Amino acid sequence: MRVLVVEDDEGIAAGLQAHLRQLGWAVDVTDGVAPAWRALCAEPFDVVLLDLGLRDGDGAEVLRRLRHAPAGRLPDSATPVLIMTARDQVTSRIQSLDMGADDYVTKPFDPDELAARVRALRRRAVGRALQLLVCGALQVDPASRTARMAGQPVELSAREFGILLALMEVRPRVLSRPQIEAKLYNWDNALESNAVEVHVHHLRKKLGDGIIRTMRGVGYFVPEESA
Ligand code: CA
Repeated sequence: MRVLVVEDDEGIAAGLQAHLRQLGWAVDVTDGVAPAWRALCAEPFDVVLLDLGLRDGDGAEVLRRLRHAPAGRLPDSATPVLIMTARDQVTSRIQSLDMGADDYVTKPFDPDELAARVRALRRRAVGRALQLLVCGALQVDPASRTARMAGQPVELSAREFGILLALMEVRPRVLSRPQIEAKLYNWDNALESNAVEVHVHHLRKKLGDGIIRTMRGVGYFVPEESA
């Protein structure tokens, strides 16, 4: 899960980033309208967490531009947006929902509740009603970040789990290596050139060869039904 946090309160931003990173998510923080827009134009994000009162303007401007972005290129106008507002900003909350925000939390919020709301947005974005992802004997739970094969827990590293979840979410669509990398690595992470291949290799050893398939020259996918 690749998350962009747009928040100019350094304390809130740092706390949120630390908490969401513990969940294995790739989290980047920007503190204004202009840098947020640059980030969205440069890379795909799965969810945007948006503060409204930003140092260089109104966070609603980011939402407005995003929802009016032309189709077929970055930024993706359908990117889910969750608004983070102060208690007294009722009017702003209503306006931002009408402008296309998907959800909101009121500060101060519980980071675990925020994370659950983000997972729900992600489910809706990929058209899924249930929390658990199932492929044959494999069950993947995004909330507990656990995988089970025929009922037995499978030990996965954070990156391995991230790759498996990304592929299961869009199954049977193919994700290219850069698309997978964009979900796993935020700006601070140095990226090893063959990292995704290495993680997929380990995943296949743990899950068997049938789950993650290679489409040569394109990327990886999980088929509708595993062999
Ligand atoms: Ca603020």
